[in-house]
Amino acid sequence: MGGTFNPVHFGHLRAAEEVAESLQLKQVIFMPAAKPPHKTEVGLASFDHRWRMLELAVSGNSLFVMSDLEHRRPGKSYSVETLTQLSSQYGGEEELYFVLGLDAFLELPTWKSYRELFKLCHFVVVARPGIARESLDEMLKTQVGDNYLFDPNIQGYVHPNQYVVYYREITLLDISSSSIRNLLASSRSVRYLVPDKVEHYIRQQGLYR
Ligand code: ATP
Ligand code: MG
Repeated sequence: MGGTFNPVHFGHLRAAEEVAESLQLKQVIFMPAAKPPHKTEVGLASFDHRWRMLELAVSGNSLFVMSDLEHRRPGKSYSVETLTQLSSQYGGEEELYFVLGLDAFLELPTWKSYRELFKLCHFVVVARPGIARESLDEMLKTQVGDNYLFDPNIQGYVHPNQYVVYYREITLLDISSSSIRNLLASSRSVRYLVPDKVEHYIRQQGLYR
């Protein structure tokens, strides 16, 4: 599961938990973007802060691990490079699933070499409030390949020579990092939106004020 995690919140964590359970994943790798290509650096906490908050958030869940692969690579954090690296690292032995929200998935055509991604890993697209599943259908068929067929047995789109694109109707939590940053900037509470330890860290370090 990639993202900016600026900061990590219960929306991310619950999505990961439900996807892992549904697809019986061995592990969820949280992969914070070091230099997100599509986000401005304004309001972006340092990688070290975002890493530390993620660490506090995933501690205690033995399924959740973190990777600093994108931090160790120079330049912008392109998913196609990350997935190429991961698949050569795990390829053959493990199946890779790229977990992301439907909002992020619909932006995929703006990502570097996005079509390559469908040849590198499965996708697990999770529902987001206010975005209809039809938009996933539409995007896949017009921007990726017109041979996708939805298989209700696996709740996923299958293609003759590409990995599966799963869709998961998870518990909808209308929480975003940007709304959390806005609350903090106006001195409001973020309790029950992020783990207590993360809230404590934000206060202690004076982030997002
Ligand atoms: P921002 O508001 O800054 O865009 P964000 O909350 O969307 O931040 P990101 O780090 O950009 O967080 O998201 C990483 C991934 O998590 C994306 O694939 C996004 O779709 C997904 N995601 C974010 N919030 C939720 C949520 N509440 N429920 C499920 N998935 C989420
Ligand atoms: Mg977002």
